[in-house]
Amino acid sequence: MDMGIKGRRAIVCAGSKGLGKGCAVALAAEGVHVTLVARGRDALDQTAGEIRAAGGAVEVVPADITTAEGRKAVLAACPEPDILINNAGGPPTGDFRDFTHDMWLAALEANMLTPIELIKATVDGMIARRFGRIVNITSSAVKAPIDILGLSNGARAGLTGFVAGVARKTVVHNVTINNLLPGLFGTDTMFSRVEAMARGAGISFAQAKESRLKTIPAGRFGTIEEFGALCAFVCSAHASYLTGQNFLIDGGAYPGTF
Ligand code: NAP
Repeated sequence: MDMGIKGRRAIVCAGSKGLGKGCAVALAAEGVHVTLVARGRDALDQTAGEIRAAGGAVEVVPADITTAEGRKAVLAACPEPDILINNAGGPPTGDFRDFTHDMWLAALEANMLTPIELIKATVDGMIARRFGRIVNITSSAVKAPIDILGLSNGARAGLTGFVAGVARKTVVHNVTINNLLPGLFGTDTMFSRVEAMARGAGISFAQAKESRLKTIPAGRFGTIEEFGALCAFVCSAHASYLTGQNFLIDGGAYPGTF
């Protein structure tokens, strides 16, 4: 299926690895010119090299997307994006009693206010050009909160509430805003959480991994290619009637009917 977005321009935040990389690769394969953002240069160059080797167009911006300077650098490199993928590292896990005020501010900055700032900076241009696709990578924890992920639950729920309102105002201009909610995907972040879980429970990495796998009806972790494919569809020309939605992609882990 041709996604109908060849020649469009995308900013993919936190796109050198993991879920962001999955989105960048899938969009580039559809002929989208991708501006890839992450802090570390090596992984950025590696991913950009893979995209170019597959025939895609990409430029990299080494920047911390959670800072005003980082966002300025990205918007200077790609001032008129048609597609914006909001993503950043997730906040640390822990007991809510140990979360300091500064930790809360960092989580809100990374997982709520940064996406809102980028939406604010890009949405009016999209409206004027009558095409825009904004996708926020959040978490299945927005739908089914996880106790040790209090910082994530709180910050991402704030973003979700904000998006729910704005997405209904922009869709008339063919600008949609949606959220993708990953369950467990085989990325560095997820495996480092499994490692922490193993240490905390005094079990081996293999045992901790097995216990996570047992929670997934699909019997496996998701792949970044599967995540990227969903992202490419939500960003496609065919998806102009989808807005303000939260798409759970979790191998069946969420047990509810809706
Ligand atoms: P990952 O594989 O570890 O990749 C994280 C990416 O984000 C890297 O490219 C990293 O590059 C970049 N990054 C992190 N902080 C950044 C910043 N401040 N500015 C710019 N780039 C930044 O992680 P992932 O699993 O894809 O996770 C992506 C998001 O999805 C996270 O918020 C995570 O909490 C959430 N999530 C993941 C899962 C899962 O199962 N994987 C499930 C639910 C939610 P640099 O470090 O070089 O900057």
